[in-house]
Amino acid sequence: MKYKELAPYLRKKYGARTQRISIAHFTTCPNRDGTVGVGGCTFCDETGSGFANHLKWLDVKSQMIKGIEHARIRYNAKRFIAYFQSFTNTYAPLKELEKAYASALIEKVVALDISTRPDSFPCEVAEILKKISTEKKVDVFLEFGLESINENTLLKSNRGHSVAEFVDAVLCAKKYGFDVIAHVILDFPSDTIYDEIACAKLLSALGINGVKMHSLYIAQNTGMANDYLDGKMKPLNSDEYVKRAVEFLTHLDPEIVVHRLISTPPKDAIWSIGMNAIQAKRQIEENLDKIGKVQGSNFNYLNGASWRRRFSNM
Ligand code: SF4
Repeated sequence: MKYKELAPYLRKKYGARTQRISIAHFTTCPNRDGTVGVGGCTFCDETGSGFANHLKWLDVKSQMIKGIEHARIRYNAKRFIAYFQSFTNTYAPLKELEKAYASALIEKVVALDISTRPDSFPCEVAEILKKISTEKKVDVFLEFGLESINENTLLKSNRGHSVAEFVDAVLCAKKYGFDVIAHVILDFPSDTIYDEIACAKLLSALGINGVKMHSLYIAQNTGMANDYLDGKMKPLNSDEYVKRAVEFLTHLDPEIVVHRLISTPPKDAIWSIGMNAIQAKRQIEENLDKIGKVQGSNFNYLNGASWRRRFSNM
């Protein structure tokens, strides 16, 4: 394997095909309601990245039941992960959070997977998750959006937090024993390939467990759409995405599970790099082959790297 893929990892961990069931429940985020900002991140559409969920009008338990039914038939899945996907899924009163998380834990659900902003993960929420995890014997995965390690890009994209909040949230989640998955967008035009390398190094040094690699797309009615249509923003092409993805992977700790290699844009997106997941996988693997590298080939920079190079044999 050229990189550590998700499906075999989950199969090994849970002993059977394991499928994530997407839940749309919480409907806002602090970067939309004025607490941190208004209008949201410039790349985020009004569904809060939940455009693919067709069951959002149902309650949490009903979404799980329907989703499991579908995953059993379509993928022959035997274990399930309750995935709170859209908007900021730790941004609500504690009682409301606890109720929503608990109602997702029906039969054969082995983990809660909660996607959120790093500045919206206080220790009170970590305590609730720890309690549920212990009582119901389920794992907890936390997905934090970092998006870019470049502070200028975070500002430009109206992200409303810096790298520090991400580091803080990861350290807190690790202290509680949760798995952490980072979301990163690899082809912001204001980033360079060196930002992607630095990002892979930071994620590795923090000991995160998984990564979701995203390509930029421009959704309707977003700040980025306005900039693109006004000619103020020029997106990069698929070759540049592949190049950055390859560098990112070669610098990433080989133990980090790669949950995705590319974004799936909404059908009505104004612009995307024009590559689907299968094409991205093929091109990234071909490019890794060309340079004779795999995930982690350049993972040689931690644990006193210069000392080891000079003195480890003495
Ligand atoms: S990407 Fe997340 S944090 Fe940004 S506006 Fe959308 S829901 Fe909020």
